[in-house]
Amino acid sequence: VVEVLFLGTGGGSPDAERGNTALLIRAPEFTTLVEAGPGVERQLARADVRVAEVERLFVSHRHGDHALGFPMLILNRRHAETPLQLYAGLNTAAVLETLCRVTFPRHLIGDRLNLRVHALSEQGTQEAVLAPGVTLRTALVAHHPGVPTLAARWDFAGEVSLAYVTDTRPTAGIVALVRDCDLLIHEASFSAVLQPGADPAAHNHSTAQQAGDIAREANCPRLALVHLGPEIGRHPDVLVKEARAGSDLDVLVLGDGERVCL
Ligand SMILES: [Zn+2]
Repeated sequence: VVEVLFLGTGGGSPDAERGNTALLIRAPEFTTLVEAGPGVERQLARADVRVAEVERLFVSHRHGDHALGFPMLILNRRHAETPLQLYAGLNTAAVLETLCRVTFPRHLIGDRLNLRVHALSEQGTQEAVLAPGVTLRTALVAHHPGVPTLAARWDFAGEVSLAYVTDTRPTAGIVALVRDCDLLIHEASFSAVLQPGADPAAHNHSTAQQAGDIAREANCPRLALVHLGPEIGRHPDVLVKEARAGSDLDVLVLGDGERVCL
């Protein structure tokens, strides 16, 4: 069984209901945190997860809502028994280490970080074995120029697969990465229904409708929307209908702290 705990489901502007997007993926002998926004430790605490339990971390890109909790997470787990295994693009990983150095120059340097960096390609796709039977695949998506952003897919023993795609406009590469996943977790920073005048491509983000299109095109039966913009997150029913677009796609708009088992 693979469990996905939705620690946060909001976009860059958290509110009382939704914190910055973060996930905790758990399977037997495997745990990974996904994203480390400013409130990530509080998000973990609310889910009753100690920072020392976080074995791995994937960070999609360097923007603050995904990265600014990293130095505090590292500081508070620096005495954990095992180093944190960080999976991030080459540039993103360098920024995360810099954040540690500038915020805690005495505590967070060299071995004291208790960190092992697995720098991923920011050119195309890459594959890494994370644990027996668990494979990570990543692909570059289309966010702001100069801010390389990766989408990720985890395959568990060839049985269960899930993908996470955020901070991007739709691309063909996303469809290829997430093909046939049991669960696609995709951003919906905008809503085509609630914000008909918005131009998500200009912001390098997606609508709930576009997330639904990607899920259908890639043959994913289930879609969970995250990174919800502050206005649209209050209208889950509208977003579900928008993403479903009359199809039989199973669309979830979960609240912070909710979980899905695969
Ligand atoms: Zn973001």
